[in-house]
Amino acid sequence: MDALAPTDLLYERVRHVIPAIEWPVFADEIAAILALKRQRNAVILAHNYQTPEIFHCVADIVGDSLALAREAMRVDADVIVLAGVHFMAETAKLLNQAKTVLIPDTQAGCSLAASITPADLRLLRARYPGVPIVTYVNTSAAVKAESDICCTSGNARRVVESLGVPRVILLPDEYLARNIAAETGVNIITWTGHCEVHERFTAAEVRQLRADYPGLIVLAHPECPPDVVAEADYAGSTAGMTDYVGRHLPPRVVLLTECSMSDNVAVQYPAIDVVRPCNLCPHMKRITLANIRSALEEMQHEVIIDPAIATPARRAIERMLAL
Ligand code: SF4
Repeated sequence: MDALAPTDLLYERVRHVIPAIEWPVFADEIAAILALKRQRNAVILAHNYQTPEIFHCVADIVGDSLALAREAMRVDADVIVLAGVHFMAETAKLLNQAKTVLIPDTQAGCSLAASITPADLRLLRARYPGVPIVTYVNTSAAVKAESDICCTSGNARRVVESLGVPRVILLPDEYLARNIAAETGVNIITWTGHCEVHERFTAAEVRQLRADYPGLIVLAHPECPPDVVAEADYAGSTAGMTDYVGRHLPPRVVLLTECSMSDNVAVQYPAIDVVRPCNLCPHMKRITLANIRSALEEMQHEVIIDPAIATPARRAIERMLAL
């Protein structure tokens, strides 16, 4: 009788989305990563946009930016590997100064984070004195350090409303800001940053999907343009979309967000027909099993943040988490 390898059990989770012929390549990397995690006393935090072999097979903690930020604070291990993009690794480090935080690829960026600099925030503050600056977490630590409070797509409305003022600067995502302005009635000054994944969805595409897939429930991320959100049945963060699927169990659903998120939901709910128009995030896709393994083998690439930036940046994140 053949004994089952631990990776055989893992394959049962993902067989719905990973062909059997591809699995042996993943299985070797996964076995090595599981051993390295034990050896280094490391945990892997993976964003919802990570591919199923990372998300379901090597991650210890998964979620959206808000969940990863919260969970990062509770981590007991010595080492955190952030399977996501650079600003997420910085956030984990800001909240866990004593831990070693590794990002498997230093080029895993974000079009939103790249759209704005600390100097831009200083100019905005000079132009709109007294108007609070809310910074989306998809920004560098240096930009967070110039802001009053952070937000995620999951709590942006709550953060804006908590300020209790008629006018707020919310940046850098123009569409998130416009969607939150429509929900709250707060006068929002924004920036022209866009997520290169979500800005590609169009209202016409949503209407075509509804025509092609009768009974389709459409869930949209608030980084999508406002006319796309207006066509959706529900708009929310990646965690909000996952919750929606779990609560309503729609027979057929589309998630207007990054491709791997749809794959991960399809793994979790195999009975649901998850329609998958595919917009990949090239930054998220820089993270692979191979570079997660290298990160743990070589203890690379460590995230280091200048204390002069870390202190005010942490304050902005902690104000958000305190809400
Ligand atoms: S999906 Fe969009 S917001 Fe997320 S990391 Fe990629 S570019 Fe940035």
